[in-house]
Amino acid sequence: MNKNYKVAIIGGGSAGIFAAIELTRVNGFKPGEVVILEKNDRIGKKLLATGNGQGNLTNKNVSKDNYYGEKEFAIKAAKTVINANLPEYFYSISMPISFDKEGRGYPVSKQASAVLDILRERLFYCGVEVLTEFNVQKIQRVKDGYRLSSSSSEIFAKYVIAAFGGKAGKNFGTDGTAYSLLAPFNHKVTPLFPSLVQLKTEKEKIKGLSGLKEKAKVFAYDGEKCLGEITGDLLFTDYGVSGNTIFYLSAKLTDKKSPKIKVEFLPEFSISETEKLLNDKLKNSPFIKREDYLLGLLNKKIGERIIKNSNANTVKEIAYAIKNYYISVTGNTGFNYAQVTKGGIETSGIDEITYESKYAKNLFIVGEALNVDGDCGGYNLSFAISSALSSAREIKKRENIDNI
Ligand SMILES: Cc1cc2nc3c(=O)[nH]c(=O)nc-3n(C[C@H](O)[C@H](O)[C@H](O)COP(=O)(O)OP(=O)(O)OC[C@H]3O[C@@H](n4cnc5c(N)ncnc54)[C@H](O)[C@@H]3O)c2cc1C
Repeated sequence: MNKNYKVAIIGGGSAGIFAAIELTRVNGFKPGEVVILEKNDRIGKKLLATGNGQGNLTNKNVSKDNYYGEKEFAIKAAKTVINANLPEYFYSISMPISFDKEGRGYPVSKQASAVLDILRERLFYCGVEVLTEFNVQKIQRVKDGYRLSSSSSEIFAKYVIAAFGGKAGKNFGTDGTAYSLLAPFNHKVTPLFPSLVQLKTEKEKIKGLSGLKEKAKVFAYDGEKCLGEITGDLLFTDYGVSGNTIFYLSAKLTDKKSPKIKVEFLPEFSISETEKLLNDKLKNSPFIKREDYLLGLLNKKIGERIIKNSNANTVKEIAYAIKNYYISVTGNTGFNYAQVTKGGIETSGIDEITYESKYAKNLFIVGEALNVDGDCGGYNLSFAISSALSSAREIKKRENIDNI
């Protein structure tokens, strides 16, 4: 094989697939002009797993606060997503979206597999070539474009879109090795951390609680600085904590020096209401033992653990302990279990509108490969897809193809 293309896309994940679709739709590039090079035996493997198989593609409430990485670029990333108007875009390619009450956008059928089917049909219809088991190992600049090589083949293209993802989720083909493809062009990689991941914690605070789930308001702290809060499920595990509260807060914690969480149990009661509950309980049952104070209010084992780990004796002190249960975070379960990579290609080398490299003309870098990560709730796919659309539109513009 030795073939020339107009555009080669490295990575058949969400960004790569949407870039190809945008390049070829409505009078765009012709069949055979765009190729996706994917190292897995099929494209879209990760997409199938997103949103627990339901495909949480976007979120209604996008703001700069949903993104992390280099601050200014993260702000621009939010703008990219807002400008892309993804719900309308998805509708235009026959993929209507509906939103849940938290603002998360899913395909109406709530099936990620249906999304992939729709995308693959369109790629086929538009004549996008898909070369699977093509692990790009080298990008070289040649006259009029780039040579992309795997261990056994090579292709040429005028434009390259690097959409090879990050380091999270090795099973899906993303192990962080692809960053080095861009090193010859002077692109640097920031320190990398897993994000949207379970947290490991000090043992004493979670002893005996593995498998228990409680609704709580959970706060993220770095030292004394509060970084955010969320109310939802907190799941105790044998290594630490998980659940939707932790996935959300992990985005704020995994790169911090002194991470800890504060758990406010009984979130539906204020501290004074909690005190009243306890006072009434003691009044009605004066025989109750200290370790049983929280029986009937919280899961028995959790209640006992809170009491055990505090010096609280009075009702006031116990109410305080319920609302201020601090747990030190000692680590996380790592990239293999993380949904997203925090960190990536330094954004100082990237044009924030077109996503073109500032060091290599006609080379674009999009999606999770960049030093941008988002909150849990559709923000990461939103950025991957929107940045891919931006790069594709710029390439079409350069080739005098109308962006309809
Ligand atoms: C289990 C799970 C659930 C998730 N759920 C959600 C969710 O509900 N909502 C949300 O917004 N985000 C979710 N995410 C995160 C989201 O899927 C990613 O942020 C997004 O897919 C990034 O898109 P991307 O195209 O940049 O990279 P990826 O989707 O990671 O795609 C990169 C592709 O490049 C390929 N590749 C890598 N190196 C090479 C190479 N050298 N040559 C050829 N191909 C290569 C990989 O095999 C992969 O197919 C989830 C992630 C995981 C792991």
